[in-house]
This record gives sequence, C-alpha cells and structure tokens, in this order.
Amino acid sequence: MTVDLPLLPLGRGVDLGAERGVECPGDLPAASDPDLVARAQAAKAALGERVFVLGHHYQRDEVIAFADVTGDSFKLARDAAARPDAEFIVFCGVHFMAESADILTGPGQQVVLPDLAAGCSMADMARLTQVEDAWDALVEAGIADAVVPVTYMNSSADIKAFCGRNGGVVCTSSNAEVALEWAFEQKQHLAGGGKVLFLPDQHLGRNTAVLQLGLSLDDCVVWNPHKPNGGLTAQQLRDAKMILWKGHCSVHGRFSAEVVDELRATIPGVRILVHPECKHEVVTKADLVGSTEFIIRTIEAAEPGSSWAIGTELNLVKRLADAHPDKHISFLDRTVCFCSTMNRIDLPHLVWALESLVAGEVVNRIEVDAETEKWALVALQRMLDLPGRIAPPA
Ligand code: SF4
Repeated sequence: MTVDLPLLPLGRGVDLGAERGVECPGDLPAASDPDLVARAQAAKAALGERVFVLGHHYQRDEVIAFADVTGDSFKLARDAAARPDAEFIVFCGVHFMAESADILTGPGQQVVLPDLAAGCSMADMARLTQVEDAWDALVEAGIADAVVPVTYMNSSADIKAFCGRNGGVVCTSSNAEVALEWAFEQKQHLAGGGKVLFLPDQHLGRNTAVLQLGLSLDDCVVWNPHKPNGGLTAQQLRDAKMILWKGHCSVHGRFSAEVVDELRATIPGVRILVHPECKHEVVTKADLVGSTEFIIRTIEAAEPGSSWAIGTELNLVKRLADAHPDKHISFLDRTVCFCSTMNRIDLPHLVWALESLVAGEVVNRIEVDAETEKWALVALQRMLDLPGRIAPPA
C-alpha cells in the first residue's frame, strides 16, 4: 500500500495540486472595509465581458450577489464553456469545480479560484495513489476486468482522469442512476455481470444502487483506503456488485434519522427534502431526494403554507427560506453547519481576485495539466453521452 499524507489542516501547506487546503497568497482587503461592495462592483464593471463570475449554490450571499450565473458544479462548468468570449472565469466554489471548468473551457480562458484554501473534504478522501492501490488489489483479486470505475463530479481531476483511462465515467447527483446502469451494461456479457467502483462518496453510491437500481445493501462493500486491502477480503470483493469508496461529504453526513423523527413530531405535515449525499438511513426516511437543482425546483413549486425541512448546505437553505417567506422552511440539523471550505470564498477574496485581474495579474489560476485533462475529458464525455438525465441548465 502506498503511503499517503493525511489531510493538511485548512490554510496550511503548499500542495497546490491537491484538493487539500493551501495558503492564499493574497494581500486581502480587510473584511471590515466598508467599500468592499463598491470595489467589487467597480472591478467587475472595469472587466466587463472579459470576466464571467460563477457562483455555486452553497456560496455566501455576499458572493452570490456578484455571480453572473448560479448553479451546481456541473451546470456552472457547462455555463463557463458556453461563454468562450470570457477571458477569465472566476469560480466561486471549490477546487474540483474550478478544475472541471478549466477542463471544459477553451485554452484561451483562465479559471480563477478566489481562495486556494477552498478545497472539498470529500474530494480529498480519494487521492490518486490510494485509488491506484485499490485498483491493484482488484487486479490481484482477479476482478479488475469486471469493474467499471464511476466517479462523482465531486472529485479531483486526476480521479476523473483515472476513470477515463480505465473505461469509467463521471456522474452528478442528477444522473448517478443512469451512469450506474451504463456502467453495469459495459460488463453484462461477463459471467456474473459487472461491478462498479464508486468514488468518492459512499452515500451517493449506496443510495443510488439500492434505492434506484434495486441492489441490496449486501451487494455493497466499503473500501477503506486506510486499511490494508481496503479492509476487505478478496472473496468479499468478488461477491460485491458495488465497491463503495469510504468517502463522504462532511456537511451532508451530519444529517441524522433522529432529527428527521424529531421534526416530524414537532412540525405538522413537514416534508423532508434531502440531497443524496446524506446517509442511507436519512434518505430512506425522507419524502423527496435529489440534487441541489431538484431541491430548488421543488421549493419553487411548493404550495404556499407548506412546511419543509431541507438536508443540504445551510447557505442554500437560508436563501430558499428568504426567497419563499410564504413557505415554512427549516434546516435539517440541530446546529448551524456551513460547508467550511465553500465559505472560504468571501467578499474580500472576491474583491482581491477581481482587482488583481483589473491590474493585469491573474491570481490563483487553476490549471489542469494536458494529460490529466485529456483523460478526464474522456470520462466527462462518456457522461455527456449518457441517455437523458443530465440536469438541463436552469
Ligand atoms: S458541501 Fe460537501 S461535497 Fe460540497 S464542497 Fe463542501 S464538503 Fe465538498
């Protein structure tokens, strides 16, 4: 097993090629500067059509206020690709999203992440060396030829490239079902059928396999990259249909079945609406499950006076509650919990990034190397070629 470094604490270290936290080199304006809004407006106006600002749904309101478009990670990457005239793509999101935007945009476009410490703890949970070790174990168990790797969009570019090189595909929370169906079809000619190695979110993999494809929990095993041979025997690997990577979202992993029960007991008629990154026991207790775009559409279409408890990132839940005062919207957790890395992008970082561009300096550029980009594009293209199910641009 290759020895890999543990996660670096946010804001420390200099591993620019990874999702893990890194220092931001910026000379930032003070958060107390009363002119921040005016400075952001002026810098954006000075850049005009040269800049396109993308805002992920989980970003702070102060940042979303300057976004030209909002959306989930895949929609934003496609939005960026649809604006080839924009020289600079300022991605207000996290590192893997900026990588995807760089992969899908043209060579003349430069992608900027306002704070390099905006990584994603889930993406960090699957490092290329760890995944290569796992693949070696599958080869050793004699099953690699039957396995199709499927990675969630929330993974680093080198994991997407790994999937591209090994006959696999990328998926989003909107099209995970059809991606898994495609993956199993690739190996259906083999005796015993195929298997999927699902990266890096065990919950999305399990929820999709069990609730949408009808597999059983016993068909799923969890590969723990911190244990020899993933903590599994060769026989367990041979028996499994779904090999789930032991990764999760630190935000969606917090929602619990107990709080679902509690809210049902205290809010009459409440409907529970959660993201598929939540744990299986939460998803099975929910009324509706879907991507951030699905959650937004559901609340928009909801009856005035209806009650909802939503299990996704708090910035989005707060924004939905503010936008729909005629509906009762609660957060599905007892405590306040934002995505700490999404929240790294704040107005001072955005002002700094925009003003640097005005001054002719491209800061915090996210650039995927050509070889990684080539193979990641193969896996992304396989996703684009899947029948239907790609969430349409809003
Ligand atoms: S919400 Fe979860 S998956 Fe999204 S960036 Fe934060 S840690 Fe990563």
